[in-house]
Amino acid sequence: MASSLFPSSQRLFVEADLEIGASVAVSAEQAHYLLHVLRMKPGEEIRLFNGHDGEWKASLGMETKKGLMIAVEKHLREQKEEPDLWLCCAPIKKAHFDYMIEKATELGVAAIKPVLTSRAQIREVNAQRCRGIAIEAAEQSERLNVPVIRETMNLESFVAQWRENMATSDRRLIVCAEWGEATPVQTALKELAKPRKGLPSNPPSAAIVTGPEGGFAAEELALLGAIPNVVFVRLGPRILRADTAALAALACWQAQCGDWLNAPA
Ligand code: SAH
Repeated sequence: MASSLFPSSQRLFVEADLEIGASVAVSAEQAHYLLHVLRMKPGEEIRLFNGHDGEWKASLGMETKKGLMIAVEKHLREQKEEPDLWLCCAPIKKAHFDYMIEKATELGVAAIKPVLTSRAQIREVNAQRCRGIAIEAAEQSERLNVPVIRETMNLESFVAQWRENMATSDRRLIVCAEWGEATPVQTALKELAKPRKGLPSNPPSAAIVTGPEGGFAAEELALLGAIPNVVFVRLGPRILRADTAALAALACWQAQCGDWLNAPA
């Protein structure tokens, strides 16, 4: 049942601790956005979240030389985490990568990890820029946290780190493979969603991997394919752009294994 009361007031991500009576200083660009883009007035309601204290009702103070302060008034929502889902994606051209970060945030990823593959044309990721996009998407999508943008690493280091972590994590690696052996995504995820004997009922945490504009090279699929319990999935018969593939795979995972049975809070 969708939430009856769709909250309307503006939301803002802040780094400060949030508690009743706190007075939060916002950045100059946030103040400009609130006062001169949204033309909000002192006393107007705004909702604040910081990724760990839940969501708070607050109201805009006056703009002073020291900047704009926001008065925290009431606790609205307890902190809630997103499903433990990562997107490990080869960087792609800016506009599409920005889109991918925004959609992955809306689709509830907990972390985004850029992975450099041989055919990735983009070799640098501006993590600060990506974080700004993720914050904006988290504000809009009513999330209570912002996905972590992990450091960019090449595929070999990613695989080595993955193997190291296997001793302490049952996270499943789900590779979107546009060619070669792969299982239809819905079949693979139905399997993953099955309760596992003696393990927590919820599906294992996951990392969805997508390649770059040029797709994966054979030796890269071989490297990924050698990881124990890796799952190669097919996203239908057409070749999708990397951002489309990421969005489609994340949606399938949320529908089958994630939190799409829940209504907005
Ligand atoms: N040449 C196109 C598509 C590149 S494929 C372009 O210019 O964008 C980009 C990535 O999307 C692939 O490496 C794979 O991870 C994913 N992908 C695309 N189509 C897919 C499919 N049908 N099944 C599984 N993954 C797919």
